[in-house]
Parts: sequence; C-alpha cells; structure tokens
Amino acid sequence: MLALSLLDRAGAAGAKITPQRKVICRALECSGDHPDVDQLLARARESDPGLSLASVYRTLRALEDLDLVWKHDFGDGRARYEVRHDDHHDHLIDTISGQIVEFHDPELEALKKRIAARLGYRLEGHSLALFGRPADGESQTP
Ligand SMILES: [Zn+2]
Repeated sequence: MLALSLLDRAGAAGAKITPQRKVICRALECSGDHPDVDQLLARARESDPGLSLASVYRTLRALEDLDLVWKHDFGDGRARYEVRHDDHHDHLIDTISGQIVEFHDPELEALKKRIAARLGYRLEGHSLALFGRPADGESQTP
C-alpha cells in the first residue's frame, strides 16, 4: 500500500484536482497491472460513464510531468501506465501471452549504474524491458 494516494501526491505537487482526475487517479491506482489509455478509460468509466479519452490523456500527461506515473513502452505500440513508487522494478514481457512479469535484481541495478559511470554519466533514470517466451514452450499462467 502506498503511504499517500496518487491523488494526495498530485494535489501536494500542485496539480489541479478535478472530479474527472479523481476518478482517473483512483482507476490507475486500483490497477494491479499496466493499463494502456483505453483500458484505463474503460475502468474509470465504471465510476464516471461520461469521462472522455481526452481527459484521460490530459490527466496522464499531468501526472507524468509531476513524475507520479511511469509510462512504459512494451513494444506493442501502446503506451502503458503505472503509478510510480519507490520500489523500482523492471519488466519481462511474455511475447506469447502478453503477460507482464515484474522483477527486481540488485545485481542488474548495480550494473546499470556501472555502465552509466563507465560512459561518463551519473544515472538519473532507467527503464528496461525484456521480451521472451516461456522456456518450456508453454505460456505461464499468473
Ligand atoms: Zn511494473
């Protein structure tokens, strides 16, 4: 559980909180996966059927500008979103089922920093997506 809700953090960061944004924030926060804009709209419309795609886009852009959400590109041409939290993780995308597996590897995190340092940079952010199919030839079910 997050200490502060996405909405609280958006408000604290100075974002304008409208009733539409409340609904969209809650829908994203309740999403345990990585919804794209259409999926998020469908979920948010369960609370507010009048919600427009444009307000979802605008809200996500505002949240992104405030560094409160992550925008992912998992290679299928659809941007996916997730609430930003302190625990960093990377993603493995099952190319057969489309399932997204989250993982964290301390060695990998250290390696990313070493690579950046070797290239003369201090790491500010990173995003890594692995793509694979189940090694046993069958898709894993969650
Ligand atoms: Zn994730």
